[in-house]
Amino acid sequence: MSGTMMHQPLTINSLIDHAARYHGATEVVSVETEGGVARSTWGEVAANARKLASALDKMGVADGARVATIAWNNRRHLEAYFGIAGSGRVTHTINPRLFPEQITYIVNHAEDKVLMFDATFLPLVAAVRNHFDTVEHFVMMGPRDDKAAATIPGLLFYDDWIETGDADHVWGDLDETLPASLCYTSGTTGNPKGVQYTHRSTVLHSLAGNQPDGMGISAMDTVMPVVPMFHVNAWGVPYIAAMNGSKLVLPGPNLDGESLARLIDAEEVTMSLGVPTIWMGLLDGLKKTGATAKSMKRTVVGGSALPPSMIPEFRDTYGVELVHAWGMTETSPLGTLNQLLQKHTHLSDDEQAEIRLGQGRPPWGVELRIVDDNGDALPHDGETQGELHIRGHWIVDSYFKRDSGTLTEDGWFDTGDIATIDADGYMIIRDRSKDIIKSGGEWISTVELENIAISHPEIANAAAIAARHKKWTERPVVVAVKAPEAEVSEEDVIKYYDGHIASWQIPDRVIFVDSLPLGATGKVLKAKLREEFGGVLEDAE
Ligand code: AMP
Repeated sequence: MSGTMMHQPLTINSLIDHAARYHGATEVVSVETEGGVARSTWGEVAANARKLASALDKMGVADGARVATIAWNNRRHLEAYFGIAGSGRVTHTINPRLFPEQITYIVNHAEDKVLMFDATFLPLVAAVRNHFDTVEHFVMMGPRDDKAAATIPGLLFYDDWIETGDADHVWGDLDETLPASLCYTSGTTGNPKGVQYTHRSTVLHSLAGNQPDGMGISAMDTVMPVVPMFHVNAWGVPYIAAMNGSKLVLPGPNLDGESLARLIDAEEVTMSLGVPTIWMGLLDGLKKTGATAKSMKRTVVGGSALPPSMIPEFRDTYGVELVHAWGMTETSPLGTLNQLLQKHTHLSDDEQAEIRLGQGRPPWGVELRIVDDNGDALPHDGETQGELHIRGHWIVDSYFKRDSGTLTEDGWFDTGDIATIDADGYMIIRDRSKDIIKSGGEWISTVELENIAISHPEIANAAAIAARHKKWTERPVVVAVKAPEAEVSEEDVIKYYDGHIASWQIPDRVIFVDSLPLGATGKVLKAKLREEFGGVLEDAE
């Protein structure tokens, strides 16, 4: 055909090639599992990714085979991301915080051929590897270690192993619709489900999600993804950073607030990404270390709702802008991100902060709708709540090894979240559909109850759940953790809700616990809390 444009496939190896060619000397800093900080560059990462790809060839690992990783955010993991997918295999990232039985299920379901892991996870891998049906090679991601070698027969060591590969390895031609990476959902109910991202979906997600009104990461940035590389590809940051040639700071295993605070100052991090619990820890770490986070301009917060008190605290004390985002494993993950519009320019800081508390608007490439129980579309008026549906270029079509049943009949993915959407497209998550409290036919948002509890100065963290109730079917109960040395009582907290929320929505009980149970991705396990406390109102009138 004449009179047309070049067609080049949108592949992940094109990202690392670009980083090597145009940002080869830009630093990739990595906190190592074995201790210390390694300084490398995009050029070195690209060379090692090619060696790794060639080493996989020499091992006879087939095209399209799954190569699994259980690893922190570090440079070897980054090299593996590009080496595995770049060579036409699939990078299967595994969350080490899952139960060993779930990890075994996932490895067998994915039919992983190679498992690469950080030294931290040697005991875990050694304990369960005999249950892995398909893994032929185990690679520990570090230098040779004789003690580890004695634990797993035939264990390979990354630093030696990739030297069997060739730094001049040439990437083959890849179809952009081939799978590039695989991540399983955290599976709070039933077995985890696999979501395979394609080369094309990954590149489009990196392009569209990183517009100025999106993540906005540039070559001027030093980016620190705290969100793990085993959770939805660290929200796509490794790919986005390669595409834009940003300096990367990978925090390794040390995710406590003090370590992060020191790293931010030492490496002059300008932007970071993670779940709210990480930022609660960071605020504490900043206070304890006296770090100023002067270089830091913004952080993207998602994975669970952003507590309202966090925006002014970061803004006023540290000059850091919090950008709220929403997404899921099934959505690559970026579904929405909260940036202001031109018409909001003249609002006060607090009015802007109010808008920015919501989960934000979709970038080009995804669409949202809300529907009622019959699947009928509901108005985008900012008031009406409904089941949130999504569709777009980087949204799951079907789960791995499941042909059907993932989408609605008309081709949307039902997120399981309850949301409102306003006329400008700003979406607010009101609850998970399985968490929301149905009291006497009315809905009460657990997110709202939690935000109010957390804004109490003597409450460190809180989760609201539905407790069974004879008269109302369900009533709200808040399970809370007191701030250190706080002496707040149940009555105090219940009284605190007065004026913040309609009286029928005020929780019937506030129960104090030492800590909240967290799942593999750092979210509160509400199902567990319901099991434990769901019966506390059974005798109530
Ligand atoms: P996962 O697939 O493990 O990333 O979990 C996705 C789920 O996390 C979503 O369906 C939401 O329920 C929740 N979630 C993610 N981001 C947010 C957010 N910013 N606010 C509230 N809930 C969120």
